[in-house]
Amino acid sequence: MNAPLSAKVVQANVNRRVSLLARYFGRTVLAIGAHPDDLELAIGGTLARLARGGARVIMAVVSVPADFETRSAEAQRAADILGCELRFLMEDGCRRIDDIKNYQLVGMLDGLVREVEPAAVLTHSASEFHRDHIAVHNACLSTQRLKAFDFFHFNPTMTRAVPVAFHPRAYVDVSETLELKMQAIEAHASQFGSRGLDTELFRDLARLNGRMVGVKYAEGLDIGRMLLA
Ligand SMILES: [Zn+2]
Repeated sequence: MNAPLSAKVVQANVNRRVSLLARYFGRTVLAIGAHPDDLELAIGGTLARLARGGARVIMAVVSVPADFETRSAEAQRAADILGCELRFLMEDGCRRIDDIKNYQLVGMLDGLVREVEPAAVLTHSASEFHRDHIAVHNACLSTQRLKAFDFFHFNPTMTRAVPVAFHPRAYVDVSETLELKMQAIEAHASQFGSRGLDTELFRDLARLNGRMVGVKYAEGLDIGRMLLA
C-alpha cells in the first residue's frame, strides 16, 4: 500500500502542476502564419494570454501578398494589441508563397527556429483549404527535426465560415483575452472594414470551443508533438 502523502508533498506537486502559462513562462513561443491576420483569427486569444503570462511570443508572418505598407502596418498594430513581437519573413515587399520553392520556405523557417529556439511552435493544420497555409504547415513539419519543441496546429483560418475537418485535442481558455483578440482582428481594417466581413464569426467559434470544455471562450489546438515531463 502506498504511504499517505504529506501535506508538503501534495502542495509541492500542486505548485508544479503545469498550466499553459507556467509551461511557457520565460520561454519563447513562435507562432507562424502564412499571411497577416491568420494568427489573430486562429489564436489571437492564446497569444495574448501567453504574452501576458510572461512568455516571449513571436508572431511570424511568412508573406504579404498585396498592399505591403497597409497590411504590415495593420499587422504591427494587431501584434501591439496582443503584446507580441512581429516578424515578416519576406521583408522585401509583396510576394506570394507560391513564388518560392519549398526548400526556400523550409530554409526560412529553419533559420527562425535556430535563431529564437522556441519552446513551442504553433502553425496552420493539415486540414486547411488554402494552399499557402498547407505549404507553411508542411514546412513547419520539417523544422521539427531541428529541436524538440512542442508543436501545435490551429483551427483553419477563414474570413467566411467554411466547413472544415479540424478536430482540436487541446483547448486554451481565452475568456480573459477574447476582447483583445477581437481588437487585433479589427486592426486589420483593410480586410474586415472595407470588405464588409463580419468579425463576430470569431467570437462565435470561441464560444463554441468554450462550450466544449466548460469555459466562456476557448481556442482549439491540435497537437503535433508535446512533451509531458
Ligand atoms: Zn492566410
